[in-house]
Amino acid sequence: MHRFFLNPDQIKGDTVLFPADISHQIVRVLRMASQEHLIVLDDLGNEFFIELLKLDPVACQGKIVRVRQPDLEPNTKIFLFVGLTQREKFEWILQKGTEVGVSQFIPVVNTRSLVQKNEQWDKKVTRILRVIREAAEQAGRVRLPSLVPPMKFSEAIGYACSSVDMGIIPWENEIHTGLKDFFRNTSPDVSNQRVAIFVGPEGGYTDEEIHQAIEAGMIPVSLGRRILRMETAAIVATSLVLYELGDLGGGRIVSS
Ligand code: SAM
Repeated sequence: MHRFFLNPDQIKGDTVLFPADISHQIVRVLRMASQEHLIVLDDLGNEFFIELLKLDPVACQGKIVRVRQPDLEPNTKIFLFVGLTQREKFEWILQKGTEVGVSQFIPVVNTRSLVQKNEQWDKKVTRILRVIREAAEQAGRVRLPSLVPPMKFSEAIGYACSSVDMGIIPWENEIHTGLKDFFRNTSPDVSNQRVAIFVGPEGGYTDEEIHQAIEAGMIPVSLGRRILRMETAAIVATSLVLYELGDLGGGRIVSS
């Protein structure tokens, strides 16, 4: 069933007023019919089952048939810090990260980032947020991952220290601790908590950045003997953490 995130102010009583872009999709693209059903999410945890009443390519309307708060979001909130990179790769990370369950994306300007300045971020952000929203709708998420503007590495470390309960920094030169060892040996009680994952840019971290991260309490971990591209490492690290904490790879039992 088609799913759409709407602003809560478009849900009035038991009526839903669809904005023009989604009305166009409903009428012109999906060619839905009156009385057909779809799902609306308000990004507050509510999932509304809607029956279409008025089919207007700029202002569709529907009525709420029922609402529920399904338990579909990961218990562990992943804050994915990833080196700022060119658009296609960044959007790929946003799409796949949203599918597996990232809660917040933080683009970081590292010493060796390919992209050093977030030129015209304000112009790009509308499209970037649409990539996240469409991935969340496709994945059946109930909450939208959030996105913060790019920040320098040292700012990102400070932001992580004030925002999460634990942080790891996947580093290909880490020879002692693999991510698996970390979870086996320290069995961190981080389920239901906020976990930062720092993935470096295409050029890798400088020794200074690694030192700064360790000083701030981030734990360097290996993702294995092979060197992963940054976009691969971002999704592999996120998936492994969520898997270890029971938020990925389990049964899709959805509470009503
Ligand atoms: N030094 C790498 C190289 O030789 O290509 C460049 C960095 S790699 C492309 C991008 C990021 O992915 C790294 O900064 C690290 O965060 C992560 N990464 C890649 N492979 C990894 C591994 N085997 N273990 C831990 N982290 C890894």
